[in-house]
Amino acid sequence: MQIEFSPGSHWLIRPSVSVIPVGDGVFDFFQSSTRRSVRFRLSSEIASVIRGLDGRQCLEDICEVHNASVPQISHLMEALHERCAVEPRAVRDAIDAAEHYRVLNFLGDYFPAAELFAAFERLRSTRIAIVGCGAVGSWTAVQLAHSGFENFTLIDGDHVEESNLNRSIFLHEDIGAPKVEAIASALHRISHRVQVRRVREHVHDANGIRALLSEARPDVIVNCADEPSVDLTSEWINDYSQHQGVPYVIAGGYNLHLSLIGMTVSPGVSACFNCSRITLDELEDKSLQGVRRLWRPKRNLGSLAPLTGITSSLATSEVLRLAVRSERLRPAMWNRRGEFNFLTNELSFVNLPPRSECGCTSDGKETDKEQRSLI
Ligand SMILES: [Zn+2]
Repeated sequence: MQIEFSPGSHWLIRPSVSVIPVGDGVFDFFQSSTRRSVRFRLSSEIASVIRGLDGRQCLEDICEVHNASVPQISHLMEALHERCAVEPRAVRDAIDAAEHYRVLNFLGDYFPAAELFAAFERLRSTRIAIVGCGAVGSWTAVQLAHSGFENFTLIDGDHVEESNLNRSIFLHEDIGAPKVEAIASALHRISHRVQVRRVREHVHDANGIRALLSEARPDVIVNCADEPSVDLTSEWINDYSQHQGVPYVIAGGYNLHLSLIGMTVSPGVSACFNCSRITLDELEDKSLQGVRRLWRPKRNLGSLAPLTGITSSLATSEVLRLAVRSERLRPAMWNRRGEFNFLTNELSFVNLPPRSECGCTSDGKETDKEQRSLI
């Protein structure tokens, strides 16, 4: 969207921003939702103009009332726009009229008005493939649909069983239905615009997953498959990702009383799954060995919906960060993974840097140039 800073344009302070005088002519533009702020020293005339920014009067008229300089205020508006503190009235009206206005308001704390709708369009049109549609996969799909994603490929050969109900989106009425069908039905109830490719197949090996993903042509992959093991499915997806340049999120596991928050991999930019294995093999910390047991084949262990929810929520956030493809909102799980401890409510992280032995990044380190490309 083209943004006009001309004197005839109408501007207002964004809803999440408070303008707080802190003395000596300095004003704090505090974004309460992100706790970020920016300070400007303003003349009393310019300060009066800022207080008058309600979107109803144009800049020129407000300046005239307060005897302020038009070029000076235009310059300030550009700086405040870049920091997501102000927005044009036309953009506010477009946000308020949009179906996903809450999501747009949220993203507007990171994207200036000029970039906001383009960022949301990138998100909306991102093709998502979810491999494994159990508890984490089902919650991730639902959260993505709530966030405005519309294009899904769901890959899973299982049917809903009664034992799934304690931690997934599935209901009693879904028992016996293919999981991909039950999720597709839930997504269509969230949005009529959602398109879902249902792939009712089990994933057995690297070739199988490559064939399925080649057909789906996703922009982002979410690995929620824990059979035969998260270790193996991550290895297979990593192989496809590195060859095709497609980023993915490992949604992790949730058995035991620890939720594993997997890493996010952007080929050529961040550490890949093989890099993480090199580092994990070197670490001999006892608690980490405990985490690695999560990757063994299925055992009949306890599970709890909140732990599934934490893993899927963080995976969804990562998918959103990948989808907007911008330096303004970068993935938080590049080169690390996390672990949520149910007993203490603590979230801890392990750094998993790119490894030169792996060769997946140019020199085993991130570079600014590569990071700019994102996906
Ligand atoms: Zn690697």
